[in-house]
Amino acid sequence: EIIKEAEFIISNTDHTKCPAPDLPEYAFIGRSNVGKSSLINMLSGRKSLAKISGKPGKTQLINHFLMDKAWYLVDLPGYGYAKVSKKVNAGWGTMINNYLTSRENLVCVFVLIDSRLPPQKVDMEFIDFVGKNGLPLSLIFTKADKQSLNKTNQSIAAFRKNMLKTWEDFPPYFISSATETIGKAEVLNFIDKLNQA
Ligand code: GDP
Repeated sequence: EIIKEAEFIISNTDHTKCPAPDLPEYAFIGRSNVGKSSLINMLSGRKSLAKISGKPGKTQLINHFLMDKAWYLVDLPGYGYAKVSKKVNAGWGTMINNYLTSRENLVCVFVLIDSRLPPQKVDMEFIDFVGKNGLPLSLIFTKADKQSLNKTNQSIAAFRKNMLKTWEDFPPYFISSATETIGKAEVLNFIDKLNQA
């Protein structure tokens, strides 16, 4: 699976200014520093399509990329960065809420989870929000190269246990590493299948 063409379309804070919803769309989101930009660059095969964040919490924009003229990849601003002000946080919430609840072509929300950490409250809260809005969800456990597969699987098991307290099912999930190129084919195949469905 290879992306032949990745084109930046628009960045904005206003969901009504997003491109016309005429192609399937996939959104990527997670805590600041989870490795979202690196993952997007890995998936697209472009070194700097998404800017690797020097300053977490700074980019509060909805970024649309057109992939192979067939689907939109959306880079959403990260959450849970302690140092942003309450005002910025509230703005983030409204923007993300509006985007997620109004985007009719949204096929799946990929929530990125740091594979090294036990379940984090902010992640669980965000996932609950996605679920309550009836949006299809997938999880990507990032930075898997930083530890053994065994440890990553333990993290996933802990995450599953936590989620199943309130969820009926565990969503589709992927293990990724941007440095070792793990998970690229799996995520792209998954998107491909959904695009053809
Ligand atoms: P974002 O804030 O979620 O967009 O995260 P970035 O992609 O900017 O990555 C945050 C930091 O984690 C950077 O220093 C990256 O080089 C590093 N990083 C991201 N993905 C990986 C990965 O898969 N493996 C390793 N070892 N480091 C990663």
